[in-house]
Amino acid sequence: MDDEIRQELKDWFEFYRELGIEDFYRRAPGENVGIPHRTESPVAEPRAAEPQIAARPAPPAPSMAPPPPSLTAQKAQLESVRAPVITARPVVQTQKMSLFESASPAPAQRENETLEQIREDLGDCQRCKLAPTRKTIVFGQGNPHAEVMFVGEGPGADEDEQGLPFVGRAGQLLNRMIQFVGMKREDVYIANIVKCRPPMNRVPEKDEIESCSPFLLRQIEAIKPRLICCLGAPAVRTLLGIKEGITKIRGQFYDFAGTKALATVHPAFVLRNPREEKILREDFEKIREFLRSS
Ligand code: URA
Repeated sequence: MDDEIRQELKDWFEFYRELGIEDFYRRAPGENVGIPHRTESPVAEPRAAEPQIAARPAPPAPSMAPPPPSLTAQKAQLESVRAPVITARPVVQTQKMSLFESASPAPAQRENETLEQIREDLGDCQRCKLAPTRKTIVFGQGNPHAEVMFVGEGPGADEDEQGLPFVGRAGQLLNRMIQFVGMKREDVYIANIVKCRPPMNRVPEKDEIESCSPFLLRQIEAIKPRLICCLGAPAVRTLLGIKEGITKIRGQFYDFAGTKALATVHPAFVLRNPREEKILREDFEKIREFLRSS
């Protein structure tokens, strides 16, 4: 096995371990492929196109960096991008459209959208295969003018029951972290990559993310946060297009279409690995510093 493939496999294993998947099975040659479930890694999925919104670490000192293009200019650029970057990872992107293009209505009409309008457009969403098994759509919650927006993976059982993001154990930890950096839950906005609970809390699949994330992007456009905090690998992969393991790239600021984005581990990862709470704290400290210094 060459080094590149070995490294790629290592990244995948790390990614799945962070999601709590510890066991991996090798399918025997010729064995039937069933419906994928949580213990089956989608490694074998065809390689998918990735949007050209690959994240880059934010420049270290603003004074040394060239002035960033405006958000609108960057988004216009993204929307004009048609040729996808081919990478190893299945991330949100349809074959022909960019992430922003795939969000209807057309960009110009979305300019001053409110969260209420986006919610109304979402309606009783049946756009993906999560619809039949969900109880409630978990649209998002918080300050519509939040400076900081948190993006998780997808609703769990408690969230599905209550229709609100991060209200279970992971949510309690997130609340503690938000307080730790001097904010209140009501100050921030919290949403997920997908708005419906995946059965058995499995990882959201590519087609589900493709259907749902345009609404998240519209929420981001409506809220215009100063900082987006990606909680866990699926959020990082979807919004930032980063393929490396989260524990390697966490704690850094990236650029998401002109908005700063911090990558950190998912609170559920910390619940499973309590010794890692320090890394979540470290990353949340960066949020505090960011808010203080900008
Ligand atoms: N985990 C998530 O990613 N989102 C939630 O809303 C709850 C748990």
